[in-house]
Amino acid sequence: MRTEFDLIDRYFARPSTHRNDVVVGIGDDGAILRVPAAAELVVVMDTLVAGVHFPLYTDPASIGFKAVAVNLSDLAAMGAEPAWATLALTLPDNNEQWLSAFSEGLFAALDLYNVALVGGDTTRGPLTITIQLHGFIPEGCALRRNGAQPGDEIYITGSIGDAGMALLALEGKITPQTEHREYFMQRLNRPQARVAEGMSLRGIANAAIDISDGLLADLRHILERSHVGALINIDAVPCSDAFLAQNIQDNRDIALSSGDDYELCFTVPQDNIALFQGVSTAWSCPYTRIGVIAAELGLRCTTKDGVLFSPRRLGYQHF
Ligand code: ADP
Ligand code: MG
Repeated sequence: MRTEFDLIDRYFARPSTHRNDVVVGIGDDGAILRVPAAAELVVVMDTLVAGVHFPLYTDPASIGFKAVAVNLSDLAAMGAEPAWATLALTLPDNNEQWLSAFSEGLFAALDLYNVALVGGDTTRGPLTITIQLHGFIPEGCALRRNGAQPGDEIYITGSIGDAGMALLALEGKITPQTEHREYFMQRLNRPQARVAEGMSLRGIANAAIDISDGLLADLRHILERSHVGALINIDAVPCSDAFLAQNIQDNRDIALSSGDDYELCFTVPQDNIALFQGVSTAWSCPYTRIGVIAAELGLRCTTKDGVLFSPRRLGYQHF
């Protein structure tokens, strides 16, 4: 049986790190890293707990991928460029098949943005994965939650609600056709963090957040931090064809409040709309204007005809 050190060597240490800002990576008591001059370091961390954040039978490559992707999404929401990762891994046993697939998924996500795994910790216990990512941002350029201003247009990337549909399918509450089911599972297990999009919004967006707990819940964070309100047209909220094909009653509520989508929600002042349209032509995902920031506090949802809509639930909360 391999020791803890053999496992780290085999599955997490790479022969030579591919970034020249990593002075010392895995193998010493600590990593030594070089932050570029004039950059600020953005640090994010997210934990996935088996049975809470993913069903116990989720394939390990997807767990590895998603553990990175949810952190990339936080960096994206700050407008930061990903650079380094650390991994705290708690494992019930040293199942090598599991570790091999897990590390494959983990590196698949890290390699998308040339992120180096520079350290971590390995312990025994209930399956839990914590990843910390470090990214760079030019001084003072980070996208914050507190910058939204009345009159800003509110946008979101991609579409929302698909991960929520995946969970409903796993719970047996909907039975999508095979093709849709696979699409939903892909959206749940392999989220595509909007990293390039977030970086391109530097100096353009007034505020940004990633949608991890549900659109309304996450938008509310921007509103609270910015001391503003918002008016949302729920008919503008973008949903995939697969999502709309599910014939269920409260699908609007699912789109507005289900989590795990990892799209960006951001606000753009009128003066920057032309700039924004310019940079967005290079985006790999669509985006949609869903509403406007208002001076009056509170979040008001209406249909396209202006009829007030009261969402039934807000979003995911752990406590
Ligand atoms: P120490 O006992 O000094 O804390 P460890 O044995 O925990 O050291 O770790 C040895 C090296 O392996 C360190 O560089 C640490 O960052 C790295 N490491 C440990 N676990 C992991 C992991 N799961 N992923 C990546 N690196 C790890
Ligand atoms: Mg030590």
